[in-house]
Amino acid sequence: MKIQELFEAGNPNNPGRAILSFEVFPPKRDHPIESIYGQLSSLCALKPDFISVTYGAGGKGNDNRTAEIAARIKHNYGIESVAHLTCVSNTKEDVDRIADELRLNNIENILALRGDLPEGVDCAEDFAHASDLTAYLTELGGFDIAGACYPETHPESANEIDDILNLKKKVDAGASHLITQLFFDNETFYRYRDKLALAGIDVPIEAGIMPVINRAQIERMVTLCGASLPAPFARLMNRFGDDPEQMRDAGIAYAIQQIIDLLAAGVDGIHLYTMNNPYVATQITEAIRGLL
Ligand code: FAD
Repeated sequence: MKIQELFEAGNPNNPGRAILSFEVFPPKRDHPIESIYGQLSSLCALKPDFISVTYGAGGKGNDNRTAEIAARIKHNYGIESVAHLTCVSNTKEDVDRIADELRLNNIENILALRGDLPEGVDCAEDFAHASDLTAYLTELGGFDIAGACYPETHPESANEIDDILNLKKKVDAGASHLITQLFFDNETFYRYRDKLALAGIDVPIEAGIMPVINRAQIERMVTLCGASLPAPFARLMNRFGDDPEQMRDAGIAYAIQQIIDLLAAGVDGIHLYTMNNPYVATQITEAIRGLL
């Protein structure tokens, strides 16, 4: 099933309901692919609407694992899957080959991304931006295409307006829904959603939520994505950050609170960055299931 249809269909008993999706990443290359199967099985048992599988930042060579895991999610567990695909180190021929492989595996959904540019590189080879990859995949046909968006502005953008106008190009090129970068302050998301509506971006937007369960994780995330930390979150880190169990429980509770507020505000969907952690995903899904 194409994810676009999922958003259109909603739930027959509750047409306005929000979608719940998970994100997982393939094991490192020196770990066997089977090492993720136990976690996948537990995550799929939670029956999210779909699960997306990241594409290794290194680009080439990582695609097989993304397709293989996406196929397993769909065919072994009956959960719809989305394969991420970055264009930063893939040529048109590479994309053709990966698209063929996804088709062979009956994967109908792609999250089209540029990926982070390696140091010293200004621009990807055949596709400068995710919108170029989106346009190319739209032309190939047969896939539903999603795109990434940034409530706190993409770090390379000169300003928020440029970033939103660039996002419009991605949607015009064929992105049927958007998934946000993680954020910790819902007000930032609400303001962003209003601005996208003003810019004529009217596709569904899923809010990306990352439950933070340890101090090292948040330090990495803030460095990588530039997410800002609101005062309640900083207080929580200061108070519980040194106790792993307390930090885990507080991080889960914060994510649940964030999600409940987003659902109350009529968000189109919640995309949970699970970090392949079934315990955390279970706690959150069970807490919000009745509200979807
Ligand atoms: P783009 O949409 O190309 O945007 C990148 C920058 O270029 C922005 O500043 C934008 O404003 C600008 N821009 C875009 N289009 C134009 C244009 N036409 N003209 C001029 N400027 C333009 N990374 C991975 O390596 N693997 C993953 O699996 C992965 N999954 C992700 C999932 C989500 C939900 C998110 C939010 C991010 C993910 N990333 C992943 C990270 C992502 O690759 C990086 O954030 C990357 O820096 C930007 O990718 P993008 O697709 O948003 O790029």
